[in-house]
Amino acid sequence: MRPRVLTILGATGTIGVNTLDVVARHAGRFEVFALTGATQVERMLEQCRVHRPRVAVMNEPAAAAALHDRLVAAGLDVEVRSGTAALTEVATAPEVDTVMAAIVGAAGLPATLAAAQAGKRILLANKETLVVSGQLFMDAVAASGAELLPIDSEHNAIFQSLPRGFRGDFQQAGVNALWLTASGGPFRTLSEEAIAAATPAQAVAHPNWVMGKKISVDSASLMNKGLEVIEARWLFNAHAEQIKVLVHPQSIVHSMVEYVDGSVIAQMGTPDMRTPIAYALGFPERIDAGVPMLELMGRQLTFEAPDLQRFPCLQLAFDALAAGGNAAAVLNAANEVAVARFLDGAASFGAIAASIAHALDKLAGGPASTLDDLLDADRQARRVADAFIGAARA
Ligand code: NDP
Ligand code: MG
Repeated sequence: MRPRVLTILGATGTIGVNTLDVVARHAGRFEVFALTGATQVERMLEQCRVHRPRVAVMNEPAAAAALHDRLVAAGLDVEVRSGTAALTEVATAPEVDTVMAAIVGAAGLPATLAAAQAGKRILLANKETLVVSGQLFMDAVAASGAELLPIDSEHNAIFQSLPRGFRGDFQQAGVNALWLTASGGPFRTLSEEAIAAATPAQAVAHPNWVMGKKISVDSASLMNKGLEVIEARWLFNAHAEQIKVLVHPQSIVHSMVEYVDGSVIAQMGTPDMRTPIAYALGFPERIDAGVPMLELMGRQLTFEAPDLQRFPCLQLAFDALAAGGNAAAVLNAANEVAVARFLDGAASFGAIAASIAHALDKLAGGPASTLDDLLDADRQARRVADAFIGAARA
């Protein structure tokens, strides 16, 4: 069997590290063509030492220069590139058949979309790409014959619970609804006032998953679930009313598909991203992920409704989905800015939802037919959210 040749976008992040962990368990099955990161030079150096990619991309030029020197000193023959064009190059290189898209935020869009246009097998972690450019992205996948495998644990669970070969026709497949589970995050039981005043350290302390900072804050605000509702809309061609959210604090049931005959099929497992990553890396085969087997004996699984009053970001995402057009791109960009300012200590947790609502008010309904329209909405929303947070502090 020929090895699968991989580019891992965002290799130095949490998903990237977990991906390389699975890859390392299967010598000969995978070959690493390119690894990309932005700032973490030491981690990239170590990854180059272990995985011997042909190319390493560091988005920041200074980081690329530092990596180059360190590689030379270590006697490692890896070509170093930098900048966004380099990300697109390694995502579309003819040698590569599989691209793990694990850059965080809309910054991952150009290279992920390029991989879709180039007809690659895409392992999609970077949900923001689908939130910003859903229709365009899915059109590109259809036009090129690219293969899309979801990494987000909920969507991977739904993918596993749908009939193999599902093409987005709910009626034909007898599917009634998709149930996305949510852990509820670290603020699940806090009051509205306590949530509004929460600190970055509290927000990133997720009860069940170890993740990058941005998605950890999104999990605390339930914006992560909101982004996932929009992601599910595009991945599975679902209507908004066919996507339901259920809080399940133990994160054992990763999501479910409800069928017209009353059957509900769920995927369960220990909460560890290596399971969905291994599923997508090996697809259609199952391969070892290094994940401890689920121990259900003596466990209690509970389910409750999400509280849209205390977690307005989830409601905002449903609103943006209903509004259509540029609204999801605006929502995503305003959220990215607000989360970054919150993590810097420049905005309160409560300001996240407020600045998104403000940006949607000002910008939703603008043009959204081309990629340029969406990138423009993204830029404008960043400006509007930033100004809103600045004004709130003044
Ligand atoms: P991390 O913050 O841990 O990693 C992000 C990666 O992207 C790093 O490699 C980082 O480089 C790189 N990066 C950051 N900014 C840029 C930029 N502007 N241009 C190019 N590269 C950049 O995030 P996660 O791994 O947690 O998440 C990655 C994606 O996967 C997100 O979209 C997230 O929503 C999604 N996801 C994550 C899950 C998880 O469990 N972590 C679960 C489901 C989805 P460096 O570190 O070198 O600066
Ligand atoms: Mg998820």
